Amino acid sequence: MPAGRSARDGLMAEFGSPAALPDEPAMSRVSVPEADRQIGVKHPVLSHGFVALVDYMGNDAAIVQAARVSYGQGTKTVRDDRGLIRYLMRHRHTTPFEMVEYKFLVRLPIFVARQFIRHRTASVNEFSGRYSIMPDEYEIPAPEEVRHQSTRNRQGREGALPPEIVERFRSDLDAVSKSAYDAYTRALEAGVARETARLVLPLAYYTEWYWKCDLHNLLHFLSLRLDPHAQEEIRLYAAEMAKLGRIVCPIAFEAFEEFQIEGLTLSRRERVAMRALLEGKSVPDACAIAGLPLAREDGKPMKTGEGVEFVEKLERLRGPD
Ligand SMILES: Cc1cc2nc3c(=O)[nH]c(=O)nc-3n(C[C@H](O)[C@H](O)[C@H](O)COP(=O)(O)OP(=O)(O)OC[C@H]3O[C@@H](n4cnc5c(N)ncnc54)[C@H](O)[C@@H]3O)c2cc1C
Repeated sequence: MPAGRSARDGLMAEFGSPAALPDEPAMSRVSVPEADRQIGVKHPVLSHGFVALVDYMGNDAAIVQAARVSYGQGTKTVRDDRGLIRYLMRHRHTTPFEMVEYKFLVRLPIFVARQFIRHRTASVNEFSGRYSIMPDEYEIPAPEEVRHQSTRNRQGREGALPPEIVERFRSDLDAVSKSAYDAYTRALEAGVARETARLVLPLAYYTEWYWKCDLHNLLHFLSLRLDPHAQEEIRLYAAEMAKLGRIVCPIAFEAFEEFQIEGLTLSRRERVAMRALLEGKSVPDACAIAGLPLAREDGKPMKTGEGVEFVEKLERLRGPD
């Protein structure tokens, strides 16, 4: 956007100026029939988990309606609605996206719940292990999910392990979980309070909660938890939530996918490197000019860092859509 031009000016240029105050906003509750059909439907995730849409408020029209209250009546057609939502997404005008709310019921292993709960903008009500007896349900990853510690990403896994190691881990996890639940049951039978007895249960055990947040924050959650850097298990939950979220707001999700998930941003150094590439320099030369290191001081190629990430961006640019 040219200097001195506000988001509102840009929007007016694209969608026309309002003649006067906006129309009286619609006051009736919107519903999306396809989303209504999804209410309460449990979408399985992992061995015992699920995601269900419990309720929602608003849809794409609510985003447009909120923006029109800000900007005046400028959009009238579905085509304009799509253009307006894409504009809002591109320019990070986020509050209209907060007008849409989602409430999910999620059953998930505790180790995944610990990642979910880091998203502080959601409102959460969890099954109480103080009040109720924890169900005997724990997660055992499928064999193909038990992989080698990644050497590139200290938080990740990659590469197959010998089958006997995979099976040993899975049977150890099964045995530890069973033995923990036996200890839990013994403690309950002996009169130990539920809030204390549960301490013996490992991270593989399941919990359940209502998870409510607005679309803006859901998209933020999804941008982090659909990302390949996020742990595979939470990505599966995020994918189900994205599918349900998209039913309510297909246009907003289309824009989110286009500008955030599939879009690429460039840092200042990356822009310098891109310019050098456009001038015909090789990738190593362009990276050197821009100060994006590709090799360590001992000459060995780097596995991580800004230079490596820039090369990954180039691969995405060259790759299929
Ligand atoms: C791949 C991956 C690896 C991770 N690894 C680790 C790890 O090793 N250790 C670890 O502890 N965490 C880790 N996290 C968690 C991460 O650091 C964030 O806590 C988590 O992703 C939530 O992000 P958020 O704060 O942006 O989201 P939310 O809590 O949903 O907040 C949304 C936005 O609201 C604003 N906000 C909310 N609360 C506050 C506040 N109190 N103050 C200021 N602004 C606020 C911020 O702008 C924030 O971006 C990891 C996350 C990912 C995706």
